[in-house]
This record gives sequence, C-alpha cells and structure tokens, in this order.
Amino acid sequence: MVDLKRQYLKIKPQIDTAIQSVIDATQFIKGPKVKEFEDNLAKYLQVKHVIGVANGTDALQIAMMALDLQPEDEVITADFTYAATAEVIALLRLKPILVEVNPKTFNIDTKALEKAITPKTKAIVPVHLFGQCADMEAIMKIAEKHNLFVIEDVAQAIGADYTFADKTIHKAGTIGDIGCTSFFPSKNLGCYGDGGALYTNDDILATRIRMIANHGQSVQYYHDKVGVNSRLDTIQAAILNEKLPYLDEYAKRRNELADFYDKAFADCPQLTVPSRKKGSTHVFHQYTLLLNGVNRDEFRKKLAEKNVPSMIYYPIPLHNQKAYQDPRFTDADFPISTDLCQRVVSLPMHTEMDSEQREYIVKSVLESIK
Ligand SMILES: *Cc1c(COP(=O)(O)O)cnc(C)c1O
Repeated sequence: MVDLKRQYLKIKPQIDTAIQSVIDATQFIKGPKVKEFEDNLAKYLQVKHVIGVANGTDALQIAMMALDLQPEDEVITADFTYAATAEVIALLRLKPILVEVNPKTFNIDTKALEKAITPKTKAIVPVHLFGQCADMEAIMKIAEKHNLFVIEDVAQAIGADYTFADKTIHKAGTIGDIGCTSFFPSKNLGCYGDGGALYTNDDILATRIRMIANHGQSVQYYHDKVGVNSRLDTIQAAILNEKLPYLDEYAKRRNELADFYDKAFADCPQLTVPSRKKGSTHVFHQYTLLLNGVNRDEFRKKLAEKNVPSMIYYPIPLHNQKAYQDPRFTDADFPISTDLCQRVVSLPMHTEMDSEQREYIVKSVLESIK
C-alpha cells in the first residue's frame, strides 16, 4: 500500500545525518530540532503556533483538554472515520455524537451535523478523511451560530488547501480553533515512529496546549493543571525537518497517481472514483474507490492473487463498534456510512510508484471486477 523504503533511500544521506546529529548532541528530549521543526511547519502552514506531541491521538486528546471540555459535554464527529477521533472523546468522559457523512466526499454531512446539535454540544471534530477537507465553510458557519469549538482532525490531510467562497485559501487544520495531525510513518508526512502535532492561531490556547502536553506545568515543578506526558521525540523531529521540504512534491506525486487511476477507471460503471471539491486540493492520503455491484471479498481475493494489495478503510462504522455503541444510534440513522463501509476499497497510494507498477495495478483492477 505504501513504499516507505524507496522514499527513505532517496533522501538517506540527509536523514542519516539528521538522526546522527541528535545522537551526537545527546539532546533526545525537547532538543533544538523540535522547536526548529515546529517553526518550519508553522511557516509552511501559515499558522501562528505548532506544538509537537507524541502522536495524533494524543493531539486530539490534548486539544479537548485545552478547550476545557467537561464530562457529559457533547462532541460531534463523523460516523465514518478512524476510531481515534471518537476514542479520545469517550476517554475524557465526553459524549461522542456520531453523524452521517456525505456519500461523495466521505466527510461529515453538514446538514446532519446541524441537526445533531443540542444545548449540551460544545465542539465539532471534522475529520478531513482520505486527504480532502470537510466542508469547512459550512462547518465554521454552524460553529459560529451555535458557539461551538472546532477541532480539525487533519491526520490524513496535512498540506491540503481549502478554498472558501470568497477565494481565501487556508491549509487544512488552520481554520478551526485547533488542528490535530499525526506523523505516523504511513501518513503523508510520516516520521520513523510515532509523532503528532497541534496547530492553532490562538496564543492563549497555544500556551494551554504546551502546558497540558507537559504534565500541566507552567514552570518546572509547578503543576497548574492535570496534564499528560506527550512529547515529539527529537529524533523524529529531526527526520520530519528533513522531510517537510518534500511534502508538496509528495502531494504532487500522489495526485499524479490519483489522476492516472481516475482516468483508467472513468468508463467503468463498477467503480466510482473519489470526488474532489473544485478549487480546494486533495492530498490523497488514500485513493478510495466505491464498488458498484461487485463482490468486494472476491475482488480483493483476485487482486491479492495478482499480488496487488488493497485495504478497507473502514470496514465498520463507528456506531457499530462495540466500544461506541449507543442505543440511540442504529444502522437506520446512518444509511450512507453503513453502505460506504460495505463498498469502499483503497488501492496502493504513495510517492514512489513507477509507471510499470501503476499500469499493472490498473490492469489487475480491471480484470478483477469482471
Ligand atoms: C492516524 C489517524 C489518527 C491517529 O494518529 P496516531 O498518530 O496514530 O495516534 C487520528 N485520526 C485519523 C483520522 C487518523 O487517520
């Protein structure tokens, strides 16, 4: 599905030097490379503050802690997403409220979102699934109208641009109150272990986030809040510093591959290619097809026989996950999300694919739907 080895080999000398420099300096925790990377990423995103943490799930948790959400507060997120988003809501004893998604973009349905708002609602967590922003224009309007916080889950969409109707362009994750991302190795900007970050334009929130991520300390050994221990490792920051300059090029390669797939499958009624919002950009964390009247298991089995990997993101909607079941939520409330889980299939998508590989994948897909 990804080729991290080839990506590494292309920049091996500079990565190896960066890792060795951290070891030589023995500055493993909160070394200067962490701040350097935070500053570089902030500049790239055009956002005031970037705070590195241990992983993307921690970033989401720290965001909710920094906004001072209280037990029983309701937090709305999409039913069709990775579980981490709902997990931290539940972990903090907040109430995850799941809503339906848009069948074209796979992102949160803004009409369903507005309907789900109650007097207890405090925040919305749109997930920019597969590399494309949720409808942030509508979401920000709803948030403003109902006085809600917006935490963007940008783990799959780092670097994506969102264009508003007035033509202003913002990077994914810099539109709401806080953006949360992950540097998991297979993410679009991946490190060589775990890593994550929060972004915000709010100075007070940035200070609170730093404090919470560092055991709730403002000054060493003075703990003002109950916090957590969540740090971006210095070696990971050094690696990310070397990879960040390539992020746009990586997105370009992903888009080239997506264009190639789109074209190859355009005339194929059994396959619906991913839709893209005009004006905004897509960074194709995943290239996800919808199968129409094709047996997915058989299709994947045939692909596997031809040595073409495929994945199902995601096989089970959150409302059917044992951990997040709620008697108020049934399949009838989520016809789209439930249907998507049965029909999606993601193809290999990465920065290192050569033309021989992509042609072989396309040929195999077309043979396997028959
Ligand atoms: C990867 C991911 C996360 C979690 O990131 P980790 O770094 O693995 O904790 C959260 N949300 C979404 C949508 C993700 O894809």
